[in-house]
Amino acid sequence: MKLENPLAGAAGPASVNAELSLAEWWMPFTSNRAFKAAPRLLARAEGMYYWTPDGRQLIDGCAGLWCVNAGHARKPIVEAVQKQVATMDFGPAFNVGHPLGFQAATAIARIAPKGLDRVFFTNSGSESADTAIKMALAYWRAKGEPARRIIIGRERGYHGVNIGGTMAGGIPGNRKHFPAMMAGVDHIRATHDLARNAFSKGMPVHGAEFADELERLVAFHDASNIAAVIVEPMAGSAGVLIPPRGYLEKLRATCDKHGILLIFDEVITGFGRLGTPFAAQFFDVTPDILTCAKAINNATIPMGAVLAQTAIHDTIVNAAPEGQIEFLHGYTYSAHPMACAALLAAQKLYKDEGLFERAREMAPYFEQALHSLKGARHVIDIRNLGLVGGIELEPRPGAPGRRALETHIKCFNAEKNATLLRFTGDILALSPPLIIERSQIDQIIETIRTALERID
Ligand code: PLP
Repeated sequence: MKLENPLAGAAGPASVNAELSLAEWWMPFTSNRAFKAAPRLLARAEGMYYWTPDGRQLIDGCAGLWCVNAGHARKPIVEAVQKQVATMDFGPAFNVGHPLGFQAATAIARIAPKGLDRVFFTNSGSESADTAIKMALAYWRAKGEPARRIIIGRERGYHGVNIGGTMAGGIPGNRKHFPAMMAGVDHIRATHDLARNAFSKGMPVHGAEFADELERLVAFHDASNIAAVIVEPMAGSAGVLIPPRGYLEKLRATCDKHGILLIFDEVITGFGRLGTPFAAQFFDVTPDILTCAKAINNATIPMGAVLAQTAIHDTIVNAAPEGQIEFLHGYTYSAHPMACAALLAAQKLYKDEGLFERAREMAPYFEQALHSLKGARHVIDIRNLGLVGGIELEPRPGAPGRRALETHIKCFNAEKNATLLRFTGDILALSPPLIIERSQIDQIIETIRTALERID
């Protein structure tokens, strides 16, 4: 396809006025055939906005992919990365270190929930999930209970796409092609209860008892075989599933009772999405291991992290003979210097601008605006927490997922206040950068309302 670019010259590397072949890039989590028949391209981003190659502006309603929490191309982060690439582009982290890696770990430990002060760097949320699972298994071996090998996930959970995360995850479509990998896992039921909780504002009232399922699985497998439970404290990717009041406390209590590790996957909820650094602080429930990634450095350079309680770190480290590698795990790009530089600049920016507090203060306005869509065409549920919103549409008979896809396309192509949204199945998800203004929230909601009126 031929793309004209009115930003040419100004946009530098984003310029796309050459002949562009769409065939070779096999795109992730994308309907490649549908996309390539009608591509939607982005070429530039700044603050709350994206621009397409032909210069149309879009409001970013989902912080890229839930990850650009401070808004796009923020100067302090850009400058930190530029400086770092010219100073030390790469530095290995196996038996050699660099100060930035230690500073980055300290910066994360400082805002982490109590006790989660040992930080292992990865490059993505998927790697964080698999690292956390391996950490849990290594912990039980080091502690002398190697039979504890079963991982309990939750239906509709999403922990990325690597092997451990795929196994522990609970989205059937993501799992069904890989049955041979699925040994050693089980799942508790999802927390969503449309019949009782539709249109709940914030945490739903009904459903704390869904956590009792864990007792059933403990009775079935026996605690002595269970290593860990992994859940998203608030599930995002499967369609914004907010935990019922009291649910996470119950999970924590059951894990404590049976000595099972609790892993929170905070890849979406980390770094201010709910108005606190992590969801663990929002819910006041502390896991033993916590994974994060998105927004750790404002998504400037791929990066993730796993935070472990000191006792977990010490158990694994102290079990190995002196001088030997204690945890045989790591990535070439763990604590990549540019990712660390971006992390330090992003964390400083979050603090200097009070962005986590800003999210907390903006949440009631966001909630009220979002719920104004109650009664709009096709809408059967609206859910929200912090700066996260989910709008569930009634599936079109015989064509599940089509309504959300068409709404996404209509919002992308809208003449006025075009908006980038996420969707999963028939659920639209909103997770704007934490710098969003009230007027931009209103614009997004109106764009969605108009789009819903225009689809069948
Ligand atoms: N865990 C959760 C809760 C996520 O939402 C995601 C991505 O959306 C992941 C893990 C995977 O992260 P990544 O895509 O960076 O591998």
